[in-house]
Amino acid sequence: MTEPLDLLIIGAGPAGLSAAYAAGQAGLSYLVIEKGTIADTIRLYPVGRTLFSTPNELEMQVGALKPCREKPTREELLSHYIHFVLDHDLNINTDEEVIGVERAAPEGFLVHTNKHDYRAARLLFAIGAMAHPRRLNIPGEDLPKVHHLFVEPYAFVRKDALIVGGGNSAAEAALFLSEEGARTTLAIWREDWENRDPKAGAMKHWVRGPLDQEVAAGRLRVVLYKEIVDITEHAVSLITEDREVLTIPNDVVFVLIGSDADLTLLKQLGVETVPGKLTEVPVYDPETFETNVRGIYVAGHFTHARHIKAAIDIPRKIVPLIAHSLRDVSKTN
Ligand SMILES: Cc1cc2nc3c(=O)[nH]c(=O)nc-3n(C[C@H](O)[C@H](O)[C@H](O)COP(=O)(O)OP(=O)(O)OC[C@H]3O[C@@H](n4cnc5c(N)ncnc54)[C@H](O)[C@@H]3O)c2cc1C
Repeated sequence: MTEPLDLLIIGAGPAGLSAAYAAGQAGLSYLVIEKGTIADTIRLYPVGRTLFSTPNELEMQVGALKPCREKPTREELLSHYIHFVLDHDLNINTDEEVIGVERAAPEGFLVHTNKHDYRAARLLFAIGAMAHPRRLNIPGEDLPKVHHLFVEPYAFVRKDALIVGGGNSAAEAALFLSEEGARTTLAIWREDWENRDPKAGAMKHWVRGPLDQEVAAGRLRVVLYKEIVDITEHAVSLITEDREVLTIPNDVVFVLIGSDADLTLLKQLGVETVPGKLTEVPVYDPETFETNVRGIYVAGHFTHARHIKAAIDIPRKIVPLIAHSLRDVSKTN
């Protein structure tokens, strides 16, 4: 067991990185534990993807992210986050997963990873919401040709690809595949295809425009479906809006219907959760982001503040409060 830490941060996405920097600034002893790589969620975006957000919503320091165009690519953003870690020598252990957390006596927490045990006075969960990709739960979904993440189209040129989903990720994947010569079908619910209201989760217009062009050019087929029946080695069967059973020849399937956070560790500690707009969220104080369990804080994608801007801004606000609470404790001891 190493020296007790003031703050242990779980996850090195934008929220965890912002928290690490703020902890250093506040003079706290801190460590970030990350099961993957620095900014792993961004690393798993499609290769060459352009972000929806502008640099001021993504950068760790004003003016530090300088993309070639108005919005950065995945590669530019990833490089920005990596250099932020290197330039500030942030304390991050990658390839290490937090697998258990318990309360320690007389106070603080004991954190178990797949490599070590740590003690920390405060914990910040910055674990994102990508742990459990949603599934269709249909026969054939575990075939090797079925993916729940889309990273790049180049292996699928002249192949029959089916994408299931109604959001931006599904639409972007369909676009990437269709533009790079896959025979692409997007299976989407009517309400998602007809939704044009950005506030109600409609596709971004800069995705929708090129998607419509691919459809008009006959390179991309859109099927309005009610249900995907099953996936076999060479086909997918689905029921269309018109109740027709359609069997589509198929080499690869991407099921891109969202993902959910893994709240197991939080729940084991007694943190309460409630149903959110899209998924279950922990209960926390909207000012301090402290949960109902004293000393446990949350930030980022699995809270109500889902975008990168909030994932960066919230830790800047709450880490000084955490530092303050620790100073109060040391004064009373
Ligand atoms: C395809 C796609 C495109 C997107 N585009 C945009 C966009 O253009 N603009 C925007 O603002 N947002 C976008 N988002 C959302 C954005 O990625 C999230 O808002 C952002 O990543 C949130 O940062 P975070 O730090 O909260 O979580 P994450 O970036 O998900 O980081 C959480 C980290 O915690 C780690 N972790 C989880 N559990 C453990 C554990 N037990 N032990 C150790 N480590 C753990 C994970 O490996 C991960 O690295 C997009 C999301 C996707 C999927």
